[in-house]
Amino acid sequence: MAVEAPSSIVAPTKTVSEQATLSLKQRNVFNADSPVSKAVSAVYDWDTFKFAPIRESTVSRAMTRRYFADLDKYAESDIVIVGAGSAGLSAAYVLGKARPDLKIAIIEANVAVGGGCFLGGQLFSAMVLRKPADSFIRELGLEYEDEGDYIVVKHAALFITTLCSKTLALPNVKLFNATCVEDLITRTTDSGETRIAGVVTNWTLVSMHHDDQSCMDPNTINSKVIISCTGHDGPMGAFCVKRLAELGLLKRNHMGCLDMNRAEDSIVKNTREVFPGLVCAGMELSECDSHNRMGPTFGAMVLSGVKAAEEALKVYELRKKQDIESY
Ligand SMILES: Cc1cc2nc3c(=O)[nH]c(=O)nc-3n(C[C@H](O)[C@H](O)[C@H](O)COP(=O)(O)OP(=O)(O)OC[C@H]3O[C@@H](n4cnc5c(N)ncnc54)[C@H](O)[C@@H]3O)c2cc1C
Repeated sequence: MAVEAPSSIVAPTKTVSEQATLSLKQRNVFNADSPVSKAVSAVYDWDTFKFAPIRESTVSRAMTRRYFADLDKYAESDIVIVGAGSAGLSAAYVLGKARPDLKIAIIEANVAVGGGCFLGGQLFSAMVLRKPADSFIRELGLEYEDEGDYIVVKHAALFITTLCSKTLALPNVKLFNATCVEDLITRTTDSGETRIAGVVTNWTLVSMHHDDQSCMDPNTINSKVIISCTGHDGPMGAFCVKRLAELGLLKRNHMGCLDMNRAEDSIVKNTREVFPGLVCAGMELSECDSHNRMGPTFGAMVLSGVKAAEEALKVYELRKKQDIESY
């Protein structure tokens, strides 16, 4: 069994620490002759290069302390967004920016964010967005080619990583990735109305092994409103719509055949609270309303996310007024 090292090793004496800092400064000399130094500022002389010292447990504690503080902080979230694809991240970005006073948690089942948006369509890189979604691309500061009725961003990964980095830089947004929503929390009022009051989460890998392992209870996050953006039907997709349909609380209608012109308008226009406390956006909505699929054009995902943010804020304010939470 590993024994905790004496504190003198964890925290070196002041003299040793001072010496280490001094020698690091001397060693990591900026190499002004390197051609790379003309492009970036942090270039070093590799012959004398050395990192600052660290103890392994320090790294572990640096991560776990923050993660557990976040779990504690976001156990009561104002808004939870399920799914960090193009719709979910667009909603998170708008909400986080518009309402810095709210705590917004994003739950993403995959390790990586982006959902179906890392490639623009098939394996063809470029991302097509029909106008007026171009305004959102300008908001992100991305360059694009203007083709008249539509624009093209050179790689969908450029869009989704930019959106992700701007969203996660907001101090009131936390992404819990490799974590999936495996159920919903419900509340039933005295008048008999059932509403969604939070999500039941688990590590995705744990969730995938409920059939062959036991005692793997989930975690929970309470929230006044949930935005579900888990994409169209698939192994994990359309999760909230499918769960509510399974219970007879919502009618499930499968995604319709492809019709680009109808599909995008109807997804955006119908982005709404589909069940008390649950706003549905992006392709998941097609599994609720039977909207047409649209193929590789992403304007509807982005603007559905923006509309979901607006709808969620309406629900949030209503819930605050109702204050029906009993515990
Ligand atoms: C083979 C294939 C064919 C496609 N065909 C079409 C098409 O014809 N038309 C079309 O419009 N789109 C199609 N898409 C999807 C296309 O990528 C979407 O238009 C777009 O990505 C949907 O955006 P979204 O944000 O709604 O969902 P997605 O980009 O799918 O993102 C959903 C996210 O939610 C996460 N998630 C799912 N369940 C859970 C859960 N329980 N807990 C936490 N996170 C969860 C997923 O990991 C994912 O990151 C296709 C995708 C694939 C892979």
